Amino acid sequence: MTTALHPEPDAVRSGETASASGSADLRAHQPYAYRRRPLEEPDWRRLPGWRSVTQADWESAQWQRAHCVKNVRQLREVMGDLLDDRFYADLERDQAERATMSMLVPPQMLNTMDASSTDAFYADPVRRYMIPVFSDRRTDWPSHPHASRDSLHEAEMWAVEGLTHRYPTKVLAELLPTCPQYCGHCTRMDLVGNSTPAVDKHRFTVKPPDRLGAMLDYLRRTPGVRDVVVSGGDVANMPWPRLEAFVDALLDIENVRDIRLASKALMGMPQHWLRDDVRAGMERLAAKATVRCVHLAIHTHVNSVRSVTPLVAKAARAMLDTGIRDVRNQGVLLRGVNDSPAALLDLSFALLDEAGIMPYYLYMCDMIPYSEHWRLAVHEAQDLQHAIMGYLPGFATPRIVCDVPYVGKRWVHQLSGYDRVRGISYWTKNYRTGLELSDPDALTREYEYHDPIHTLPEEGQRWWRERATA
Ligand code: SF4
Repeated sequence: MTTALHPEPDAVRSGETASASGSADLRAHQPYAYRRRPLEEPDWRRLPGWRSVTQADWESAQWQRAHCVKNVRQLREVMGDLLDDRFYADLERDQAERATMSMLVPPQMLNTMDASSTDAFYADPVRRYMIPVFSDRRTDWPSHPHASRDSLHEAEMWAVEGLTHRYPTKVLAELLPTCPQYCGHCTRMDLVGNSTPAVDKHRFTVKPPDRLGAMLDYLRRTPGVRDVVVSGGDVANMPWPRLEAFVDALLDIENVRDIRLASKALMGMPQHWLRDDVRAGMERLAAKATVRCVHLAIHTHVNSVRSVTPLVAKAARAMLDTGIRDVRNQGVLLRGVNDSPAALLDLSFALLDEAGIMPYYLYMCDMIPYSEHWRLAVHEAQDLQHAIMGYLPGFATPRIVCDVPYVGKRWVHQLSGYDRVRGISYWTKNYRTGLELSDPDALTREYEYHDPIHTLPEEGQRWWRERATA
C-alpha cells in the first residue's frame, strides 16, 4: 500500500515555485494531479458469454437480475477462456473454505472488471472485493483473534428485530437480508445473503410485515429519533410498492426529519433505479418529503473509480431529478482496492464531477472473519485522510471513519490512545447505547479497535502469536 505522498517533482525539490517558473502548471507540482476523466461503460460484448447481448437487454433491470453470476460455472460461461483454470480453482477453494458471502455479481459490476488477462483480472480492484479468491487471503492471520460475526454488535442493540438503535437520535432499519449483489467484505455477513460453508447465516424470525410494522410503531413512540437509515441488505431488493409504503409511513411520523435509503445497487445495478416505476415512486416520495421538510436521500456504496460508469451517473442524476435532497457515497477502505491517495481522489472526483454523487464517508473494513487481507491499520487510514485533504471541496472531502465496536463511527484521528506495537487503538464516546443506560463508566471507558496483525512490527506480531498459543 502507498499512503506516502508521491515523490516531489524535480522543480519543487530544487526550490522552483509556480510563480518563479512563470507558466508552471500548479497541477504538475502536486502529489496528485487533478484532471477530469470521461466516464466509460466498457463494452460487455468483449466477454464471450455476452457477445450477443443487446443494449436493450443490458439496460433492463430484469435482464441484469436474471444474469447475475452466482457460481464458478456461471463465471466460466461468461468469461470463457479469458481466464486460466488456476483462477477458477482459486475461487472454488475460497468458496469452500473462506467466503463469508455467497457469490452474486451483477453483469453491470462484472463488466467493469479488467478481463484482458488472468493476471489483470486478479489485480482488478472490483474483482478483489466482489470475487475474492483463496490466494487473496492471508494465511498467517486470515482472521484477527478479535474478529467476530456481527462485529458491530448491531443485533444486541435491536430495539425491535432489525432496528438498531445505537446513537441517541438515529436508527438503522434493516428491512431485508438480501441485496442484488454480495460484497466479499460485507459487515452484515452475519445476516445478509445465503449461508456459505464457512458461515451459517442468522435469519430474521418475525414475518416481514410484522417486523416493519414494529419498526414504525417504535419510531412513533420514540420522539427522540429524528434520523432513519433504511437499509438491509439493499433496499433495491424490496418490491417497490412495499418500500414506498414503508418510507411513506416514515414521512408521516412527525419526529422523523432525515431518511436515507441505502442502496449499493445504484452502482451495482443502476438499471433498477432507472426503472420507470421506481423513478415515479421516488418522485412521489420526494414531493411528500419536500412538503414535510424532511431530507430524503440515497446512500450508495462505491469503492472504485472503475465502477462509476455513464449508466451509474445516469441513475444518480435520475434520482436527483426526482427531487430528493442528495445522493451520497459511503465506500469502504480496502487494501488492494482503493488504498492509495490517488485511488480515493480519482473515485471522489468521478463521483462528484461526473455523477453528482457526494463523497461522504469511507469506512474502515470491519473486524469480521477472514477480512485481514482487506483491512488497513488505523495509522494507514490516518495517512490517507491527510493525503486527500485540500483537493476536493471541504463539503465533498470524504471522512475516513472507524466503526468502533460498542462506540460507533469515529473519525480516524479521534482516538484517545494508540499502541502501535500491538496495533490496539483506544476510543471513547459521548453517548450511551441502549445497552449502557445504567452503566456509569460508559462515557469514560476506552473501547478497543485492532489493526491487522501482519501490519505490526515483529515485537507486536510475536505478542499476538504468544497469546494465540498460550
Ligand atoms: S450491498 Fe451492502 S449489505 Fe449488501 S452485501 Fe454489499 S456491503 Fe453487504
